[in-house]
Amino acid sequence: MKFKCVAGRFTSLFCPSLCPACRNNGRADGEELCPECMSNTPFIQAPFCPSCGGTNDGIFKVCRHCLREESFPWTAATSLMEFRGLAREMIHRLKYSGDTALARPLGLLASRRLSESGFRPDFIVPVPLHWINGLIRGYNQSRLFAEFISAQHSIQTRNVLKRRKWTRRQAKLGRDERKKNIINAFSVPDRKICRNRAILLVDDVFTTGATMRSAAEALLDAGAGEVRILSLARG
Ligand SMILES: [Zn+2]
Ligand SMILES: [Zn+2]
Repeated sequence: MKFKCVAGRFTSLFCPSLCPACRNNGRADGEELCPECMSNTPFIQAPFCPSCGGTNDGIFKVCRHCLREESFPWTAATSLMEFRGLAREMIHRLKYSGDTALARPLGLLASRRLSESGFRPDFIVPVPLHWINGLIRGYNQSRLFAEFISAQHSIQTRNVLKRRKWTRRQAKLGRDERKKNIINAFSVPDRKICRNRAILLVDDVFTTGATMRSAAEALLDAGAGEVRILSLARG
């Protein structure tokens, strides 16, 4: 089935069966994207790296990127897509162009990946934006897709992390700068919520892992029993 809709970024409101990625093809019931976009999306393939969720095509337990890192504080990582091509385009549209209709398909596809991992957290925590960025953008993209994961699994999303300092955009920084930029960037005002809990920390893109590391350390410091991470894409 192929049909056109002219509603631009609001297509999903007016044409609910239109593919939210290409806004051109129809999608079948129960599918998040049209068959063409599904096959153009660079989903991460097994074997997975347990540290970052990317593909581990080497001979070691973790991928070649994670081999260079000091160990991460989480027990396991899951990621949905490689950060290139259509995956990169969808995330950029969700994050910078207000195309919030993409939160649903990306959240539901990530939700399937979470089911495959077998992990059932007590609650889900999205990486927060600083309030200034939240004010400018009007929404937190990680919180939007986290809420679709929550609904699928009947697990609450809890915004327990606060960004305590404004940080320069990680995407514009080099590897070492990212680490320094984000250090101690998060706090947990209500620490007792986290005590002994299994938490799934979610963010849109995992590049060096510096943001997730800082956020996970804040949760563990607040007494979390276990933190695992999920990202939409591995950069
Ligand atoms: Zn499509
Ligand atoms: Zn890795």
